[in-house]
Amino acid sequence: MSAQRQVLPAEGVSFEVEVPLVIVGAGAAGLVAALAAIETGVEPLVLERDPVPRGSTALSAGLIPAAGTRFQEALGIADTPDLFARDIQRKAHGDSDPGLVSLVTAEIPRAIEWLADAHGLPFSVVNDFNYPGHSARRMHGLPSRSGRELVDALRQAAESAGVQVLTGAAATTLFAGTDGRIAGVAAERPDGTLERIGCRALVLACNGYGGNPDLVRRHIPEMDGALYFGHPGNTGDAALWGEGLGAELRAMSAYQGHGSVAHPHGILVTWAVVMEGGFQVDTQGHRFSNETHGYSEQAAIVLRQPGGIAWDVFDARIAGVARQFEDFRQAEATGAVLRADTVEELAGAMHVPEAALRETFQAVDRLVATGGTDAFGRSFSGVRTLAAPFHAVKVTGALFHTQGGLAVGTDARVLRTDGGILPNLFAAGGAAVGVSGLDAAGYLSGNGLLTAVALGRIAGKAAARLVRG
Ligand SMILES: Cc1cc2nc3c(=O)[nH]c(=O)nc-3n(C[C@H](O)[C@H](O)[C@H](O)COP(=O)(O)OP(=O)(O)OC[C@H]3O[C@@H](n4cnc5c(N)ncnc54)[C@H](O)[C@@H]3O)c2cc1C
Repeated sequence: MSAQRQVLPAEGVSFEVEVPLVIVGAGAAGLVAALAAIETGVEPLVLERDPVPRGSTALSAGLIPAAGTRFQEALGIADTPDLFARDIQRKAHGDSDPGLVSLVTAEIPRAIEWLADAHGLPFSVVNDFNYPGHSARRMHGLPSRSGRELVDALRQAAESAGVQVLTGAAATTLFAGTDGRIAGVAAERPDGTLERIGCRALVLACNGYGGNPDLVRRHIPEMDGALYFGHPGNTGDAALWGEGLGAELRAMSAYQGHGSVAHPHGILVTWAVVMEGGFQVDTQGHRFSNETHGYSEQAAIVLRQPGGIAWDVFDARIAGVARQFEDFRQAEATGAVLRADTVEELAGAMHVPEAALRETFQAVDRLVATGGTDAFGRSFSGVRTLAAPFHAVKVTGALFHTQGGLAVGTDARVLRTDGGILPNLFAAGGAAVGVSGLDAAGYLSGNGLLTAVALGRIAGKAAARLVRG
């Protein structure tokens, strides 16, 4: 355990200030927990390391999957939490905790409607393409489809509700009794001073360990040295404190990768470019995988190609669909998205062998025409033939965020390795174990914000109720 993230005995420690509830981290999980706590009658203090709260939430597309909302109903989309739970387990090969899956899939539609009704977040459903593995259209996002808009809206809602967010405050130390009860935390301020803050309950919402190369090497060796595309401040503090407290850590090898990050621009290129009928080729113009399994496991597959590089290939119609995402518009603005009127011209722009790319196009066209399945197992039934003008983006694979973390019970309270609970410690979002099985392939799109928002709300309410006795 690093000296920066330590658990020290609470005995004899005096605190400069006492608050009922501390929440560490002001991403989606922390801000949702804060809104839920204040609504339950307890004023939380949110500690955030950064000067402006953003976290990985701001880097995401801000899309939250939820089944059975009125937003879906208005579009005639039939969906239920049970169906969603089955999709999650199918993707996770049945390796996610069924209790946690039921808990979050039941909570998330209520949480989305609550954020819309009580806090004015204008959600709508992405209704023009299917995310892999979801059997209904259930991604809810704000108008710009950007996580930055989501986290800014949550921060504004928290401020309006009277939540105090202390920025430039990095929690370093937890003070705990012999029974694991948290008495308070120490937070380091930008000038190096430490403030000791006493609390009656603590919510860890400081995400996972993608920003901690040692932990990534230990738990996810296949991503050792890969581009980390999440927030650098997510350095595994919850897991490190958890180890110090005897908390149970689960599914530490699970993560979300992404096989489509524009290179070298470092901009996410939406997987819609593939799901709508595009494909990936290597630097020799050949396809190498069934891209529709999912973008998460595709990260390691792309990294195994020569140079760790692939090309997303699609057409103007698909670019039109992708353009609803700010990231894609940004990728276009920076010149990452190539455009050509013929396959030959495209091959030239990509610097891949022309004959090979032409053959790949012809093979895909045949599969689309016959609705066939290729040697990798990808079915092309139901997609349209690519039509000129064509587009291509050079991409690489990246680690987005980790999905393992603190084991939690039905009230988001942290469990111990000995089967007990840590009495006043809660976890949500990337700090807690997710519902993504045991590897990258277990990640279903949206699992990240699902547990950030659903567990955030559960943790905030439960911690506030505990404080109120
Ligand atoms: C590029 C990208 C795209 C994604 N797209 C999606 C998507 O569309 N849908 C989806 O569901 N998920 C997506 N995800 C995953 C999603 O962003 C995360 O799962 C989610 O944002 C986690 O929320 P959080 O609140 O747990 O963490 P964060 O939003 O990362 O917030 C954690 C906060 O804790 C702070 N912090 C950390 N340690 C400390 C400390 N010791 N003291 C004080 N503060 C601390 C950090 O500064 C940070 O602000 C994406 C992730 C990435 C990187």
